[in-house]
Amino acid sequence: MNELLLSATNLTKRFGGLAAVNDVSVDLHRGRIHAVIGPNGAGKSTLTNLLSGDLPPTSGSIRLNGQDITGQPPERISRQGLGRSYQKTNIFLPFTVWENVRLAAQSRERHAPFNPLHWISPAGRLAEVNRRCERALELAGLTARANSVAAATSHGEQRQLEIAMTLATEPTVLLLDEPLAGMGAAEAESMVALLQRLKAEHAVMLVEHDMDAVFALADVLTVMVNGQVIASGTPEQIRNDEGVQAAYLGEEH
Ligand code: ADP
Ligand code: MG
Repeated sequence: MNELLLSATNLTKRFGGLAAVNDVSVDLHRGRIHAVIGPNGAGKSTLTNLLSGDLPPTSGSIRLNGQDITGQPPERISRQGLGRSYQKTNIFLPFTVWENVRLAAQSRERHAPFNPLHWISPAGRLAEVNRRCERALELAGLTARANSVAAATSHGEQRQLEIAMTLATEPTVLLLDEPLAGMGAAEAESMVALLQRLKAEHAVMLVEHDMDAVFALADVLTVMVNGQVIASGTPEQIRNDEGVQAAYLGEEH
């Protein structure tokens, strides 16, 4: 329990003269939600892109499940167990919820030359893919919506579907960038319950602006401002940190 799955050390990402991420270290453990908060432009999405391999770091290193993955392409990092959701959705709206999850599960298979499923019969492989999809839908709370066309589902359900699609690739580490964005109260409540379920088996990094959700969910928080970590600790420590109060958690939040 609480095993260290991802460890990023002294990550820096420069865009020209701007250090969007400046000497940031973060550890993600199974069974924990690690929230990353900070004002717009703090570098939260850039940090997510560094961990997923969508952007190469200028300096620093990243280890996933004990392996150095620094500078590897995102498909390869995904195969090694890192799943992420994107702020822009990858859902095929004319397809059903089930079909979307199936496509996500199969894309993982196609890109995996050493996938052990290649050694079993096509029928056995299909059964295994179906089981993986059922588990993903269940965890995402979408089993009852499996046969609905994605276009006919609500905004909240589409965000759940994105997570189900990520889960279908069987990640151990999940990076979620603002999963509650644009949600009403009821949708946010379902998403909070879903995130709570995810943490049992996964290491989760949660970038989120909804502070009620963050403080309800997070086991650990990192606060970023202008690319730098200004504080890291338990929700209690962060709530009482005067630097954080001044820089971010002011009364207006
Ligand atoms: P956050 O997600 O915390 O709002 P971002 O990581 O999106 O912050 O952005 C951090 C800073 O890096 C911002 O100043 C942003 O304008 C800049 N930035 C992000 N991506 C790029 C890019 N591809 N090229 C140049 N600057 C970028
Ligand atoms: Mg962002």
